[in-house]
Amino acid sequence: MSTENTSSPSDKGPTGFITDGQNTLVVEDGHIYKDGQAVGFLFEDGYIKNNNQPLGKQNKLSLIENISPWQFRGIDCQGLEIVLPDEHPGPSGKLEYNAKIYNVINGRVVTEDHKYVGQITDSGEIFVRDKNGEGGKVKVEGTTLLNFTFEGISSTGANCQHQFRRPLYKIDRTYIDNEIIRYFDGFDALNNLQKKYVLETMALWSSCGLLQIVRKSEGDASLGNVKHGVTGVTRVRTGKVSLDKEEFEREVNYYKQHGAMMIVPKNIVDYLEVRLNLVLAHEFGHQVDFVLTSAVQEQVAELYEKKRKSCDKLHPLPDENESPSELLMRQQIEKRHFISGYAKSSAYEYWAESLAAFSIKTTRDHLREFDPVMYDILTNLVLAPTKVLSRVFHENITSLQASLKLGGEFLTGGL
Ligand SMILES: [Zn+2]
Repeated sequence: MSTENTSSPSDKGPTGFITDGQNTLVVEDGHIYKDGQAVGFLFEDGYIKNNNQPLGKQNKLSLIENISPWQFRGIDCQGLEIVLPDEHPGPSGKLEYNAKIYNVINGRVVTEDHKYVGQITDSGEIFVRDKNGEGGKVKVEGTTLLNFTFEGISSTGANCQHQFRRPLYKIDRTYIDNEIIRYFDGFDALNNLQKKYVLETMALWSSCGLLQIVRKSEGDASLGNVKHGVTGVTRVRTGKVSLDKEEFEREVNYYKQHGAMMIVPKNIVDYLEVRLNLVLAHEFGHQVDFVLTSAVQEQVAELYEKKRKSCDKLHPLPDENESPSELLMRQQIEKRHFISGYAKSSAYEYWAESLAAFSIKTTRDHLREFDPVMYDILTNLVLAPTKVLSRVFHENITSLQASLKLGGEFLTGGL
């Protein structure tokens, strides 16, 4: 698993200029130069390691605030603007954000290893440094905030405490699990194997914030008495996902025995079908369809048409046999068109099956191999959602992803 850093690595400092009222010092990747001579190192969190004049010879850390009237202006290695000290200083103390501990120095939210990741104001507003935000920062508020506690003193020296708790949030569970539990109505009534299945197959979508966005826009999921296929075939917007209880139980058992994908015989002799055991992610995929831009929807429809035509030509079935799925002889499996047989049945099922496959590392690797264009669209959905989601969701997903990065929940499984 990897997390995308919200800030630059600590061994590379910012680039810009320090002014002390009279002189200008050049700063390059943290190294401070005066008259061409290296005189110290500036970390992006405002600490300066001095190794020469004018700071004294000892190799200790000083805060830029304490070297008055020094001021730094420049950018970090991601190109985000940095002004040190900040023009509007905030409080100092400790911030616990989604159980991650940060130091706060005059409003700067920083890590032990000198990364400058965000800001907090005296009144408790939280910003994350993020290239997707206006002016290089994103405000985190309302539904995009994770649980946090701040304790310290304000910029004016008064006691300063702030706390936020997400409503309906189980404190002993991560954000990722909490969101999945909110999404799956009736989660608590599932058996352990079913719970594990739900949490495992939906973790990626929860960790990148998309599950929360889609739940609020389209609805949640629950078990019922509906046969699969009702939601997707015609692209009728149904809101909630209703999973057939028996089918769900069968899928969970398949998943346990065979993993996310299996190859099953069909009633035509010698023919096989590739099958995904990811029904919940599949149905979620149908919901996601409705939050995409029409450009992406059209791109998916075109991809599908191309594949279907090629499939009919290269992998025809024996005479008088028909199937909406891609059925293959054993030796054709490795040259198949669709990630699963069912993906051939319509452009909507193609999208839902591809998204389902993307949910789990093993099948995601297959998708990259069989359908690299679709793989790229789905990668954008996680890592650059504003490229594929309708405009109306951009502000929310940007803020939520910034918050999830600050809270250490944005796990992309090595994407
Ligand atoms: Zn479907």
